[in-house]
Amino acid sequence: MTNTTDPFLFDTEQLQTLADDRELRAGLADYRSQCVTEMQLDEQGLFAGVEDSSSGEVLSTQLHYDVDGNLFVTCGCEYAGEGLCRHGVALLYTYAADQGDELLGAVMMLSKSECNGDAPRLR
Ligand SMILES: [Zn+2]
Repeated sequence: MTNTTDPFLFDTEQLQTLADDRELRAGLADYRSQCVTEMQLDEQGLFAGVEDSSSGEVLSTQLHYDVDGNLFVTCGCEYAGEGLCRHGVALLYTYAADQGDELLGAVMMLSKSECNGDAPRLR
């Protein structure tokens, strides 16, 4: 397999260092609800509109790397916690899915521990 070292593709362990567990789960739920729209990748980073599932508002979410190579999120939700907000997480999941990445395996793994059991089936 060729590894293109895409800066916006992460495995589960990496994701867990980027966002806390609560945001990961919430972001996964948002990803599955297809809250992420108009995703774009350019040299500035990864951008999308992400619908906030509580307010219904579409937030502008951007993922960038800073000069030290750390991923950070700029998001309309003004998330105050450490790491990525749920919208940034949802964006990463959507991006990975778009790439057909094996992160989908991670999605399946995380989703098993979710309690609202209406997981969409892939086939
Ligand atoms: Zn956000």
